[in-house]
Amino acid sequence: MSLANGRHFLAIPGPSVMPDRVLNAMHRGAPNIYEGAIVSLVDGLADDLRKVARSKDAGVAIYTCNGHGAWEAAIANLFSKGDRILTLDCGRFAEGWAQTAQGMGVDAQVVMTGDRGPVPPEQLEALLRADKAHEIKAVMVVQVDTASSACNDIPALRRAIDAAGHPALFMVDCIASLGSEPFEFDDWGVDVMVAGSQKGLMTPPGLAFCFVGPKAWEHRGELVSVYWDWRPRIRPEMPYQRFGGTAPTHHLFGLREALDMLLEEGIETAWARHRAMGDAVRAAVAGWSEGMNDGPMEFNVVDPAARSNAVTTILTRGFEPKKLRALCESEMNVTLGIGLGRFAQTSFRIGHMGWLNPPMVMGVLGAVESALEAMEVPHGPGLAAAAQSLGRAMRKAA
Ligand SMILES: *Cc1c(COP(=O)(O)O)cnc(C)c1O
Repeated sequence: MSLANGRHFLAIPGPSVMPDRVLNAMHRGAPNIYEGAIVSLVDGLADDLRKVARSKDAGVAIYTCNGHGAWEAAIANLFSKGDRILTLDCGRFAEGWAQTAQGMGVDAQVVMTGDRGPVPPEQLEALLRADKAHEIKAVMVVQVDTASSACNDIPALRRAIDAAGHPALFMVDCIASLGSEPFEFDDWGVDVMVAGSQKGLMTPPGLAFCFVGPKAWEHRGELVSVYWDWRPRIRPEMPYQRFGGTAPTHHLFGLREALDMLLEEGIETAWARHRAMGDAVRAAVAGWSEGMNDGPMEFNVVDPAARSNAVTTILTRGFEPKKLRALCESEMNVTLGIGLGRFAQTSFRIGHMGWLNPPMVMGVLGAVESALEAMEVPHGPGLAAAAQSLGRAMRKAA
């Protein structure tokens, strides 16, 4: 029997749920792109994106593209063919960034540190210490790897670079985490950060951002091309240059509204809310296997402190995650995230980033528990544990 009715719910790790306010802000005619309101709107966007990334004066280049485009933009602006860079991967996404660099002729070395936990800072320090001639131009990592759902300790990785006394640029992919996980561009000494619109920033896919600190601004690779050059986008002589052509007007309207929502809530409150939602999901996952020797689920990320508040990757035992996802989608109108990489057949993911409240998260968890019931998979009390976790979070905040 299918119970699929009402609103479809997308619980994948991006695109996230689009707020009605954002969608409504986009529902209008095209504005004059040369002068008037859109020009000042764009100036405000850069200022507010800096607030979200916690930077006083990083340059913000906005591109009409997805996260892969921001990856390419950052590489094109900074490097020349043959430059050496180091990428530490704890899942899948940092390697993807490195492959983009390799495709452009950059000598990007990928060190896979394991897909069940974050990148160990000691390993980064050792790799940099071994580079006595300081040939490595940059270190690239992700904050949250969306495949493994590990959250890297960005300040610890910065300290590792400093402890090695290495001058490499520090480049961080926050596509899955900006607006969801605590992030401090200035205080953490990040040189370049890339982000996209469609995850924590609650805006449809199609915008991506490069945040450029002062040290990165001084670098200029030979790979840079007219369109990807971040200089005119950050310091335009004419508004038209900000986008290398026609501004993506409707995405900008949507982003304006999303940033208003985020700043009205307060960025630190949004981080705390994501922690509460992440805790609820984790309580459910733990609860489903509670009191069982080989329960139906296990966290992919082994260390509890390294589990992301934006997405959770869940390993399954004794049932097919494909069947669980199919049931949730066809019978209950909830789409869960697929497993990626090594765990493609034995895992699924729940996205919990962006515009979310307890009924949304509890609804997803309830659908998963109902699917376990429908499949007759033995399980512990996950949903009750999630409710207790949210209750505790509210008691603490009161
Ligand atoms: C989603 C994601 C990307 C890719 O972004 P696209 O917009 O799909 O190109 C890159 N890195 C991370 C960490 C992501 O979560």
